[in-house]
Amino acid sequence: MFPHLLINSFDLEFSELVEERLKARCVNIFTNTKVKEIRGEGKVEKVYFDDGKEVDVDSVILGVGAVFNPQLAVKAGIELGRGKGIWVDEYMRTTDPDIFAVGACAGKKDFYTRKYTPVMLASTATAEARIAGANLYELKVIRENKGTIAIYSTYIDGLVLGSAGLTEQSAKKEGFEIVSGIAQGMDKHPGTLTGSSKVKVKLIFSRRSGIILGGQVAGGMSCGEMINIIGMAIQQRVSYTDLETLQMATHPCLTSAPTMYPIVLAAEDAADKV
Ligand SMILES: Cc1cc2nc3c(=O)[nH]c(=O)nc-3n(C[C@H](O)[C@H](O)[C@H](O)COP(=O)(O)OP(=O)(O)OC[C@H]3O[C@@H](n4cnc5c(N)ncnc54)[C@H](O)[C@@H]3O)c2cc1C
Repeated sequence: MFPHLLINSFDLEFSELVEERLKARCVNIFTNTKVKEIRGEGKVEKVYFDDGKEVDVDSVILGVGAVFNPQLAVKAGIELGRGKGIWVDEYMRTTDPDIFAVGACAGKKDFYTRKYTPVMLASTATAEARIAGANLYELKVIRENKGTIAIYSTYIDGLVLGSAGLTEQSAKKEGFEIVSGIAQGMDKHPGTLTGSSKVKVKLIFSRRSGIILGGQVAGGMSCGEMINIIGMAIQQRVSYTDLETLQMATHPCLTSAPTMYPIVLAAEDAADKV
């Protein structure tokens, strides 16, 4: 139904990479289109779209989002939050002092806006579970939930994509005054080495404070962990100045060149614009 694939968690230039990759594999993509009906005699045969299009099919895989079933929580008398997930405080305590909630059923507040965010990830669930475990019997302020950084990675036909925090479009929508930096490079040096892949990094910063709000990466396998560096930067609220002087380990076979480290170059690009 959206104008592009993955557009809730990536900016357009990253969505386009995915679309190009799928089209190169002869995948037909229908955007801005809603499935109206799935029909067949004994098995699925045809999918009907609301704009009148029809497609013959052998099978259908539905991946249309998931919501938590609040029945058990409601029966237990626990309050739900705004997004209908179970309301929890910074220590994952529900409104019942003997019940904690973590994971897909627990309500989540965005790291920067504190608004409800519909994040359902195993990695987020695990971080929350560690917080709940640490605070089961008494509150240890050193482990509290400071908000959910929507951070995830995916893999599409050899292309790794990662997103953390706010995208440029979601940051603008929320009213943040932003500046973005982009860098592209190779993840080994020289880039002609066997197994090198292109890497594209985009970082979004608050223009006035320089603090990182989000980031996206696309490229080879190295992007799977690169997005976690960006996630850590968000969690620690580092600025583009901090990232411009990032101290990192580099090796020809393992990483981008120290002079061309994409996270640093993307931070420099943003700083230059300011
Ligand atoms: C296809 C798919 C791929 C995914 N890939 C990723 C990924 O790559 N990375 C990532 O981070 N996340 C991924 N996720 C999301 C991730 O799986 C969920 O966010 C995560 O499992 C949530 O953990 P949870 O413990 O909160 O809930 P669940 O894993 O859903 O566990 C809830 C458990 O409670 C049980 N249960 C429910 N009701 C009752 C009851 N009344 N009594 C007793 N037990 C009950 C259920 O049977 C279930 O075992 C993926 C999800 C799907 C569906």
